[in-house]
Amino acid sequence: MFKALVVNKDEESGKTSAAIEEMSLERLPAGDVTVAVEYSTVNYKDGLCIGPGGGLVRNYPHVPGIDFAGTVEASQDARYKPGDKVVLTGWRVGEAHWGGYSQKARVNADWLVPLPEGLDTRAAMAVGTAGFTAMLAVMALEDHGLKPGDGPVLVTGAAGGVGSVAVALLAALGHEVAGVTGRPETADYLTGLGATQIVAREEINETVKRPLEAETWAGCVDAVGGAMLARVLGQMKYGASVGAVGLAGGAGLPGTVIPFLLRGVNLLGIDSVMQPYGNRVRAWSRIAADLPMDKLEAMVVPATLGDLPKLGADILKGQVKGRVVVDVN
Ligand code: NDP
Repeated sequence: MFKALVVNKDEESGKTSAAIEEMSLERLPAGDVTVAVEYSTVNYKDGLCIGPGGGLVRNYPHVPGIDFAGTVEASQDARYKPGDKVVLTGWRVGEAHWGGYSQKARVNADWLVPLPEGLDTRAAMAVGTAGFTAMLAVMALEDHGLKPGDGPVLVTGAAGGVGSVAVALLAALGHEVAGVTGRPETADYLTGLGATQIVAREEINETVKRPLEAETWAGCVDAVGGAMLARVLGQMKYGASVGAVGLAGGAGLPGTVIPFLLRGVNLLGIDSVMQPYGNRVRAWSRIAADLPMDKLEAMVVPATLGDLPKLGADILKGQVKGRVVVDVN
């Protein structure tokens, strides 16, 4: 027997409720690899799946947790054997499939990535989907020409999970980093991660009035979307790129195409869920090589399975700072 956070739905009222339950291996879904989960984390999607579901969860009872890291316990796939350390993000695990808020998980071998040298399971979940996505965004900016010395790189939603890792990564890679935050009290935290400039959210959150403003940013990792993204597009340097990662501030894009046409600005879509295996391996090895572990540690907020209902509600309100690491045992 083992423990898992299970979300049940009351068919009459339609309300969901999450509680820790004792489970047996037979209840786990079909899959070719069984993992003894060590750590998981909390993302915005987890907040939705612990709570009312947000249209992501198909069937109840449900075990949320969109990412986890642990040790292979049993495998019917030649690529994995008991004792291997693995990490999983995406593939709709924790949404359509049972996820990582459990001491055991059974999944498809194709969804796993072997943990790279230099990262343990706890560090992997301090990174989690949020940090993995930040790395994908940084790689996309590099693939489109960004290099240290080009000028300040903007990170929006800087004190959140994606933002925190993006700030630390970019600074470690030698970029000048500006972080946008709506929480001025996080300024010291962001400076500690390597930001050299803090931009107040309200300065940059207003609707576009002029389609082009002063050419300011050499690149941008955007976790916010909405009015802020539209505004940032008009502030990019000639030929610079924005990695569009999130929608913490809205799914709209109330701007103009002028920055694309007159400044050759690139808007790069970043998806972590269906990312092909090769690029996943590349991103995880870049994380192990380039993300300073002391900076990662500074982002960690430790938690247990029992903390998850509250943390899920907090992240939906934008009140989680940095990266929550859930010790499921
Ligand atoms: P967090 O909640 O940890 O961070 C989001 C941050 O955005 C907040 O901390 C806050 O930063 C800022 N923010 C929140 N609300 C607003 C608002 N109304 N206006 C402006 N800024 C706001 O979430 P994550 O970092 O985990 O995820 C960020 C986004 O990226 C989410 O939308 C998430 O769904 C998405 N995402 C997408 C992925 C993909 O594959 N494309 C993968 C992972 C996440 P501050 O307090 O500093 O202002």
